[in-house]
Amino acid sequence: GKPICECNACYAASDCSVFKTDCAADADSGNPLFLEPFWMQHAASSAVLIAGWHRMGYTFNDQSFISRELENHIRRVHAVARNAVTNGKYIVFGGGSTQLLDAAVYALSMNTSSPARVVAAAPYYPLYKSQTEFFQNMHFEFEGDASLMNNSSDNTVNVIEFVTSPNNPDGKLREPVSQVPLTRAIYDHAYYWPHFTAIPAPADKDVMIFTISKLTGHAGSRFGWAFVKDKEVYENMKSYISQAEMGISREAQLRALKLMKAILHGNGTEIFNYAYKKMSDRWKNLSEIISLSKRFTIQELPTQFCNFFQKVRGPSPAYAWLKCEKEEDTNCDAVLRAANIIGREGSLFDYDERFVRLSLLKSDDDFNLLLHHLNKLVAQEDGPK
Ligand code: PMP
Repeated sequence: GKPICECNACYAASDCSVFKTDCAADADSGNPLFLEPFWMQHAASSAVLIAGWHRMGYTFNDQSFISRELENHIRRVHAVARNAVTNGKYIVFGGGSTQLLDAAVYALSMNTSSPARVVAAAPYYPLYKSQTEFFQNMHFEFEGDASLMNNSSDNTVNVIEFVTSPNNPDGKLREPVSQVPLTRAIYDHAYYWPHFTAIPAPADKDVMIFTISKLTGHAGSRFGWAFVKDKEVYENMKSYISQAEMGISREAQLRALKLMKAILHGNGTEIFNYAYKKMSDRWKNLSEIISLSKRFTIQELPTQFCNFFQKVRGPSPAYAWLKCEKEEDTNCDAVLRAANIIGREGSLFDYDERFVRLSLLKSDDDFNLLLHHLNKLVAQEDGPK
């Protein structure tokens, strides 16, 4: 008969109960759907309904583009997560953290005497290169791998380093790599939440960027924020957002506020406990399979003290950074694709093709399919059964 539901591409039958094992496991994108079940459990408290007459104007009552109530709630969420020192820092809102990354490059390169070289330590998030090259101007240009800067004998260059901590793709906590004296860092803390990493100490840097995409999972709302210590850098970032957007959508801010309120309900720790458990279970399941393999390894991440949990905890990264160890497997992405696993190839991160990033952030169905295919691939190492 007629199907009673629209089946996901991997399922068939009228009630979608038949799993099609030939379906590819797509672990490519960082779409953070792992939190969908959390929000289903909090559907009412996180819902937004906006009357047609509400907040029609360009500005809030204080003539600014940012909701002070949202700002206060963001500061409170950080206080609960114990992941950042926000006192004494200005805040800027952006259309996703994506927009703030460029705003920060712009702001830090405004008063330099020669064009700033923008760098990141490989393997790094590909957008740093693509966006910086796209918006390149007389103030800055993308230079590539941060460690290469240290070979330069010119100590007068201005360097702007993206420091992604924990890093996308490998989940490692990072500090700047460039040793050039005039280096200024943009800390991309998209994943600096108890969901994805131990928080050794609250981050307290000059420019720190966060996003709702990886905190609540609402990537589609396009909302991020930056904490900035220096007033001039703050003013420059604000003027970037002003010129580009006249501020961030009031609806996006309203939804973000509702989500922050829902997070802060009770003692505010529920989402962190939920997300940590889910991501750490996924990491354990994946590690178990890979430990049986001689052909593949994944990154090693330490167990360490977490300021949020107030105890030592294990890893729970957003991505697996998988390596093909066999000499002939030089193109690891091709090896995985042949086994119906779609990852993101290492070369996109300015790195070796022996590596592939696998997203652990997607839905339970996506993740389970990934485990299924990996299990099969590893089981085949001793020859077909
Ligand atoms: N920084 C890093 C390291 C990311 O992985 C991502 C998204 N995958 C972003 C920034 C951008 O996130 P958004 O624009 O959704 O805030």
